[in-house]
Amino acid sequence: MARVYNFSAGPSMLPEEVLKTAAAEMLEYGTTGQSVMEMSHRSKEYQAIFDEAEANLRELMNIPDDYYVLFLQGGASTQFAMIPLNLMNKNGKADYIITGQWANKAYKEAARYGKARAVASSADKTYSYIPKTKREDFDPEADYVHICMNNTIYGTKYHELPDTGDVPLVADISSCILSEPIDVKKFGVLYAGAQKNVAPAGVTIVIIRKDLVGNAMDITPTMLNYATHAENGSMFNTPPCYAIYIAGLTFKWLKKIGGLEAMKKINEEKAKILYDFLDGSRLFKGTVVPEDRSLMNVPFVTGNEELDAKFVAEAKKAGFVNVKGHRTVGGMRASIYNAMPTEGVRKLVEFMKKFEEENA
Ligand SMILES: *Cc1c(COP(=O)(O)O)cnc(C)c1O
Repeated sequence: MARVYNFSAGPSMLPEEVLKTAAAEMLEYGTTGQSVMEMSHRSKEYQAIFDEAEANLRELMNIPDDYYVLFLQGGASTQFAMIPLNLMNKNGKADYIITGQWANKAYKEAARYGKARAVASSADKTYSYIPKTKREDFDPEADYVHICMNNTIYGTKYHELPDTGDVPLVADISSCILSEPIDVKKFGVLYAGAQKNVAPAGVTIVIIRKDLVGNAMDITPTMLNYATHAENGSMFNTPPCYAIYIAGLTFKWLKKIGGLEAMKKINEEKAKILYDFLDGSRLFKGTVVPEDRSLMNVPFVTGNEELDAKFVAEAKKAGFVNVKGHRTVGGMRASIYNAMPTEGVRKLVEFMKKFEEENA
């Protein structure tokens, strides 16, 4: 068996240890005589898996007691509707910062339910930077301000949060959840699809301040009301049981390597290897302004489309897969999520050096 280094933006690599544990427990979990996939979600064995996962996530992210942790379905994209349906309930308006396609989709969805306002955007430069904002830019009567914390397609991230005053901050953290510590108290809602940094696709994690739950618009479908899930421990209906189990294994793996401070150090080291090389390269260059660079998604180009295509093809042959960039940016993108070993990034850079010598 030869596992590749998978630089996919999502679904993406999972820690090998997590996959091995899942494989070992595939036919029989503990002494239950069944796999986790086959268990009733109402059984005490499954409830124990679920409770342990939630407790470990709370510990890792230091989530205060006045926040619910919900395990939902529908991906981050369903949150684009759930956020306005549940939160745009006082003044019927919300502010959005447009830092890429995901942020823009969230904004457009919100505009279906109330007055969504685009406060700032970096569309003018293909989203290659995070627009600066001041507190006065935000409407103090907005029900919330929405940001996308790490922009998966464009490779930017917020290194400093916008100052929104008393207006709750809502953040899509799909592609940076658990990559470094985050101060949950600064947010009203955090949400993330799991398939970038946590688990297989199918579970969406929502961390929401309790006072923001319970005032959904009348038209809100039962399944899209946070209260439905908060009041039923995420078990109003069948949750994505297996994906939650894998998420639980990932949380244990993170605890074992020392939690999010340790993970951050590793992620910074990985990103530095790649960015340092890009900054010194005669052939490749990063597409993002240095101060807003993501730790997780690193887009780069040669400036020549044919050469980009050649690089992607040769990289694949050498065992570095899914390095093709998003169609709106072109070139390449290396997604280096938590599960990508440092060794994988080192080897990719060695391969890039060789390609540069042969082609520059
Ligand atoms: C992948 C991604 C999404 C979409 O997630 P789905 O789970 O496919 O709906 C939304 N936002 C960000 C930042 C993403 O990276």
